[in-house]
Amino acid sequence: MNFKSTRDNSISVKSAEAIAKGLSPEGGLFIPESIPAVSLNNIKYMADMTYTQRANEILGRFLTDFTEEELQKCISAAYTKEKFETNNIAPVYKMNDSQYILELWHGPTCAFKDMALQILPHLLTTSVKKLGIDRETVILVATSGDTGKAALEGFKDVPGTKIIVFYPDEGVSQIQRLQMCTQEGKNVFVSAVNGNFDDAQNGVKVIFTDKEYENELLSSKKALSSANSINWGRLVPQIVYYFSAYCDMVKSEEISVGDEVNICVPTGNFGNILAAYYAKRMGLPVKKLICASNKNNVLTDFIETGVYDRNRDFFVTTSPSMDILISSNLERLLYIVSGGNADLVNGYMTELKENGKYTVTDEIKKEISDNFCGGFADDDMCADTIKKTYEKFGYVTDTHTAVAVAVHNAYVEKTGDRTKTIIASTASPFKFNGAVLSALQGEEQIAELDEFRLLEKLAKDYELRVPSSLASLEEKEVRFEVVCDKNQMKAVVNEFLKN
Ligand SMILES: *Cc1c(COP(=O)(O)O)cnc(C)c1O
Repeated sequence: MNFKSTRDNSISVKSAEAIAKGLSPEGGLFIPESIPAVSLNNIKYMADMTYTQRANEILGRFLTDFTEEELQKCISAAYTKEKFETNNIAPVYKMNDSQYILELWHGPTCAFKDMALQILPHLLTTSVKKLGIDRETVILVATSGDTGKAALEGFKDVPGTKIIVFYPDEGVSQIQRLQMCTQEGKNVFVSAVNGNFDDAQNGVKVIFTDKEYENELLSSKKALSSANSINWGRLVPQIVYYFSAYCDMVKSEEISVGDEVNICVPTGNFGNILAAYYAKRMGLPVKKLICASNKNNVLTDFIETGVYDRNRDFFVTTSPSMDILISSNLERLLYIVSGGNADLVNGYMTELKENGKYTVTDEIKKEISDNFCGGFADDDMCADTIKKTYEKFGYVTDTHTAVAVAVHNAYVEKTGDRTKTIIASTASPFKFNGAVLSALQGEEQIAELDEFRLLEKLAKDYELRVPSSLASLEEKEVRFEVVCDKNQMKAVVNEFLKN
């Protein structure tokens, strides 16, 4: 299978090249030229498989230029019991008769980004090797919090790679900051950027599209690549867990093969929910994809009106990994639902860049609203949902997951659709312990406590176990304290690469 660019139909590359490059040279995103099928019979077989076997089934359909052995190696290096502290890798928790929580946060950094970023370094180094390239890969990441740490963990000390992570100084939790600033590994660097996530992401994009800089790096045998969810190698592993969740539900006889489910995803950059859309298009029986946003509800409005408009206030919320006004992966959806119309997509993206706004055609709008439903929950609704969900079902959710639960509750109320729903749970409650505890007990209860006492309190009061990677943070040395301006990011990269 070859990969095209969302902005130029004449481009066609193998998956190894798409993954090694990350972003197409003209700024488009790589996308498979067709959508492979998974039959109900396939799903029936997959129900009896382990997570890694299921991954092999799905990834193999996209990464056709990888040998069986190469793929196996990547998969088994990524999804181990040691790293995920569970054999299931992505277990499904039945919260009630219609809400099934797909726990995607059992990996080393306690957020769902591990699902992709534990395997991406292996896919990437395998790709570079397959292409016969003698170059060091320099990973540049802009992160709203969870990607950065997950990428650092995935790439640390991987031979032939270096990684630099930029995070918005005003947009990550204290735990997230500590996780990144204490990162170990010889090939890693971390810097804060003055501004919000979009500032950091735009800064990285500017570096990526700088031709002159690319050549400069090439002359010293270095090539930039991305671990952001714009890289196809990030997206494809995420398709796996939707199939896996469905298979688990078949196996536990919650559903029969062929029964439709809904999938509800707390959304930021639109990567996770796009993976769910792929699963649907491949043949997973999915009725509606419910796109849950926080107060930065640009996607809710888009799904409802067909107008994408980023000209609005940016809010810092208690679900910071979803504080995003430009959802990069939406570009891939537009490409698919427009029937692969790169010119049209290119036009939208130019309008977005120049005016911060575009309006899709009626056909595209209809195709999207046939598949997707949008909704949002602000911080108060999110906190209220954390509390009520615990009181009703004894289950503690993090803030991002709670946004999804709140939006799903509202969806059921509005539509009466009680179809069993897979709710993607994207972070461990421990990662956002302050907001979670204040929702459960009130702010007064935690006013005096630092991050680590919060971890202990959450564990003690709700009979949970602090994930070991978070428990050990307190003893770790802070290695990175740089804060730079948006326009200094390239200089930061250069300084690090000098060594
Ligand atoms: C990244 C992230 C999201 C948003 O996922 P997208 O793929 O960017 O839509 C939601 N929740 C958490 C905890 C995250 O880390």
